[in-house]
Amino acid sequence: MKIYIDGKFFSKEEATVPVFDHGLLYGDGIFEGIRIYNSRVFKLREHLIRLYDSAKAIFLDIGMSIDHMEKAVIDTVAANQTRDGYIRLVVTRGDGALGIDPSSCAKARVIIIVGDIQLYPEEYYEKGISLIISSYRRIPSDCFDVRIKSLNYLNNVLAKIEARQAGCLECIMLNGAGHVTECTGDNIFILKNGTLMTPSPLEGALDGITRRTVLDLAKSLGITASETILTRFDLYTADECFLTGTGAEIIPAVAIDKRIIGSGTPGLITKKITEAFKTFVGLTV
Ligand code: PMP
Repeated sequence: MKIYIDGKFFSKEEATVPVFDHGLLYGDGIFEGIRIYNSRVFKLREHLIRLYDSAKAIFLDIGMSIDHMEKAVIDTVAANQTRDGYIRLVVTRGDGALGIDPSSCAKARVIIIVGDIQLYPEEYYEKGISLIISSYRRIPSDCFDVRIKSLNYLNNVLAKIEARQAGCLECIMLNGAGHVTECTGDNIFILKNGTLMTPSPLEGALDGITRRTVLDLAKSLGITASETILTRFDLYTADECFLTGTGAEIIPAVAIDKRIIGSGTPGLITKKITEAFKTFVGLTV
């Protein structure tokens, strides 16, 4: 394993970060999770645009151009000779003093890890997962806009712990108004009367790259899709439900707060979109 840190490659054992890095001390930084399919980095430019938008929003000067970053990612994938895998790209505020003020951090730190990811066991892609609605609300955008993919994931981590304690692998988070936003690490879609629906990122969701891909695929399959306000009721009474994310890809959900969704098995449109997604990324020939 060759890990990129600030322009140099390190082995897994050597790849360490100083304790004064504000990414560690304050969660002051941003990241992306990106997929490699068939030796090609999936939607790299879209991920990098999201990364640079996150950086701009938090006054983080990454210190390299987007083209240079693109090359660094591709070079790291090549150095690891990875055909199928997952990239974790992290940019921290860098090393600074023991105070929150980022002006003590002279230079951002760029880390690129190429590895594997398995978010959910294989069997759940066949039978679907059960979800709960978390008691933790999504952070409101006037406190922190979660479209910034930051290293502050404690809101999500607490919700994830709650899900695990309830015997679920994932949970849904509502915003302060009780509207559905997303899950701890995935976006959410439901299907009702033939229409695919997903909350707008403005409700408090990450503008997921997989989410965008699914919206495009739905269009090409002739499935009506829209960004809509959804409440618990819409989830409980949905005909189908699935989650999307770079790590998870598309995973069906078959129960929410113990309400069975549709027939309790992955729905037909969910399967159709999953097949289209696999073909699109080159997982099926
Ligand atoms: N929501 C959250 C909170 C996430 O962390 C992620 C990424 N794991 C997603 C949604 C899915 O986004 P993407 O499809 O870009 O991976």
